[in-house]
Amino acid sequence: MHCQPHSGHQVYIWLKNVQTCLLCDEQTDSDIALCTQCESDLPWLIDQCDRCALPMSMTDLTCMQCLRHSPAFDEVIVPWRYDFPIDALVTRFKHQGRWPLGRLLADLLARTLQHRFDEDLTPPDVLVPVPLASKRLRQRGYNQAAMLANWLGSQLRLPVDERLIKRTKETPAQQGLNAKARKRNLRDAFTLATPSKVIDQHIALIDDVLTTGSTADALANLLKRAGAKKVDVYCLARTPKPGD
Ligand SMILES: [Zn+2]
Ligand SMILES: [Zn+2]
Repeated sequence: MHCQPHSGHQVYIWLKNVQTCLLCDEQTDSDIALCTQCESDLPWLIDQCDRCALPMSMTDLTCMQCLRHSPAFDEVIVPWRYDFPIDALVTRFKHQGRWPLGRLLADLLARTLQHRFDEDLTPPDVLVPVPLASKRLRQRGYNQAAMLANWLGSQLRLPVDERLIKRTKETPAQQGLNAKARKRNLRDAFTLATPSKVIDQHIALIDDVLTTGSTADALANLLKRAGAKKVDVYCLARTPKPGD
C-alpha cells in the first residue's frame, strides 16, 4: 500500500498528540502543553483555610481573618499557591499577552474543577468573571478574568456571563483608607447589570489571583443581596499571608 504514510510521518506524530512542554521545552504526549514532571513540580496548594483558601500549615482550619469576618462567598477552588513558576506564568499571560500560557493554566484549572464536580462540588449555573476597571481595560485591551472564564466555560460546558457585574468606578484608591472606608469604596465600585438574573442562581466568580479576598467578598455580598443562593470563587492562584 503505497498510499499509506510511514509511521514517522507527520500525520502519526499529529495523531499521537506530541506537544512541547511550555515550561521546559521537552516533548510530551500529555493532552496539555505541560510535561508530567513540570506539572507535578507546580506549587499545588494542599493545606488551606477552609473558607478563603489562604495557605496554612494544616488543612480543615479557618484562618484568623475568616474567623473575625466570615466572607460572603461560600467556597474557593484554587489549585496553586501564588509562587514560582505560577506567578511568572500569570504575569506573562496578564501583562505580556502570552495567551498560550493563560490557556494552559485555564485547562489545568478546568481539570481540577471537573475532578471536584465528579467528587463533591456542585457545578454552578453560570461563570462570572471579575470585571476590570474600564481605564485598565483600555490600557490592557483585554480582561484576563473574562478570558479565563470563557476557556473554563467551553471546557466545562458552563455558560459565561461577562456583563452581569459592572465596574462603576475607576479603580478605587485603597491606599491610606481604613478597613471600613476601604470596604465602602469597594462596595460602591460594582453594580449588577440585570439584578433579576441573579435570583436563586449558583454563581462562580472567576479571577486570576486571589490576594486579600476583599474584592471577591464585596462581589459575593452584592450577588447575595440580589438573591443569589450560592457564590463560589474559582481562581488560578492564592497568595500567602504577607510575610509567610
Ligand atoms: Zn516540562
Ligand atoms: Zn480564611
